[in-house]
Amino acid sequence: MIAPVHWEAVQRGPVIFYHFRDPPWSNISHGFLTRKGGVSAPPFAALNLSYSVGDDSAAVAENLRRAFAAIGSRAEEIVTAWLIHGNRVALVDARHQGQILEGTDGLITVERGLTLFMRFADCIPVLLAHPTLPAVGILHVGWRGLAAGILEAALEILDRDLGCYPSVLHAALGPGIGGCCYAVGPEVIETLRSRIGKALPLRRINGAWHLDLPEAVGLHLRHLGVPSVITARVCTACHLEDWYSYRAEHGRTGRFGTWIRNP
Ligand SMILES: [Zn+2]
Repeated sequence: MIAPVHWEAVQRGPVIFYHFRDPPWSNISHGFLTRKGGVSAPPFAALNLSYSVGDDSAAVAENLRRAFAAIGSRAEEIVTAWLIHGNRVALVDARHQGQILEGTDGLITVERGLTLFMRFADCIPVLLAHPTLPAVGILHVGWRGLAAGILEAALEILDRDLGCYPSVLHAALGPGIGGCCYAVGPEVIETLRSRIGKALPLRRINGAWHLDLPEAVGLHLRHLGVPSVITARVCTACHLEDWYSYRAEHGRTGRFGTWIRNP
């Protein structure tokens, strides 16, 4: 995979997000909101954007207000999803504005100005974009979604419904758990091997197999015909000052936001 040449922080008010400064697509608003700049107390400090993790709802509402202001969108213009680590991908348009799609881990749109938004804490945020058409997508990809075929599902919608062949698409992978911190058991390895192939990026650390999930996602995207994959190469578990990590924080933590939007 290509390492990011320009992975940079942007501050908007109290909120800090990262984005790819020179991605291989043009004019597409996208970014990965850090956990900084919010009002939630530990263990959700500070910019937790999820109501479903046990945080104070008034704090989450204020965090969302700050986050949406920082990304230049209003809540009623945003489409988001109730994530289940599955393989359902929805093609959305203006009719879905302000909605939360249940049981969905992928959103795709050709609508201009519609913000696709998802929440993360270790799973890999995958952004997809066509270089010239207003076609963008966002996927929530953990090992279960990868094994369940979420990448295939997204690429099929882009190809079949929008005429976007994988060979012209660009993919960008945001912060997620890295091979340094992601020890996995035999069921994960066996399931992934049977579903996406034998060659998994595994290494042995202190007697345990570790999966490089971003690398596995990138390799599988390439295998499915997407040649252009850039990655943040940022491990959430190694950088708790910026990101939430479900694994490193033992399940008691918040969720950071990721978005993409056609101009
Ligand atoms: Zn790590």
